[in-house]
Amino acid sequence: MQDASTNLPAAGISPPPGPQPGLTLVATPIGNLDDISPRALAALAGADAVLCEDTRVTSKLLARHGISITLWPLHDHNEEAQLPGLLARLRDGAALVLVSDAGTPLMSDPGFRLVRAAIAAGVPVHGIPGANAAVLALILSGLPPHPFMFVGFLPAKAGARDAELARFKAMEQAGLSATLVFYEAPHRAAETLAALAASLGETRPAALARELTKRFEEVRRGSLAVLAQGALDDPPRGEVVLLVGPAPNEAMGQASLDDALAVAMAAMSLRDAAASVALAHGLPRKSVYARALELAAEKKRPD
Ligand code: SAM
Repeated sequence: MQDASTNLPAAGISPPPGPQPGLTLVATPIGNLDDISPRALAALAGADAVLCEDTRVTSKLLARHGISITLWPLHDHNEEAQLPGLLARLRDGAALVLVSDAGTPLMSDPGFRLVRAAIAAGVPVHGIPGANAAVLALILSGLPPHPFMFVGFLPAKAGARDAELARFKAMEQAGLSATLVFYEAPHRAAETLAALAASLGETRPAALARELTKRFEEVRRGSLAVLAQGALDDPPRGEVVLLVGPAPNEAMGQASLDDALAVAMAAMSLRDAAASVALAHGLPRKSVYARALELAAEKKRPD
């Protein structure tokens, strides 16, 4: 139902703002403390307890919004051990809220094990969306927003990082064509950009988004080589997201298209095979579907 004067959903149908029994994942700001929704604040204020990474960080946010509530630390080092106790509370009907220090919980932050366990235990899991550095960087980057692949942090050690990048290169050679999104520490940005340029190509369009929603917000756009040099000349300070545009579409010959379709059609329906090959190779879905129909007909025809 819509309010005719505003075209917005009528007020009565939105979910109740207060605490809901179960686990509620609440996004918090990534810099500007005002970037949090009224519904998120209501969930925080009404929770039986708020699970957070660092109680000092979350206290500061809550104090800013006049909320006083019990905080329980939940981080990578204690998440597993806390599961039984938290699940028992949730099964008893407690309203627990999970936040991270910044942005959307679970996105390169703790909470996945708890969410998985809550789902397995049949406990309700809710979410209140909000800030996320990856998505904000993506929409500001000027790179194709979808498909995109959120990678998070690459391994810090050069050997493991380069092995991971070699896997991305192999995926691209097999047809992956997506904007890649990485989180990175600022002091490693220049080295990581150089590694990305070396493995994915110096001319690939890319972006570096830093200090999003904060005073020194900046988005640098250019090729990987240019951004890598720029990060050496003028090291980015603060928090950064690195983005790499999709691999260029190599013009696909008829023979390779037929090969890709044959592989896909052996594994899925003709329609799905055509859709996935079209997406993977950036080709028009209609023409790929038409070719898939021809190949299927050829296959049926007696020699
Ligand atoms: N959960 C968070 C989210 O939803 O974006 C991400 C947490 S992860 C531990 C921290 C990383 O996110 C940083 O190293 C940086 O790559 C990125 N990040 C967080 N805040 C940012 C900001 N304001 N500007 C740019 N990048 C940011």
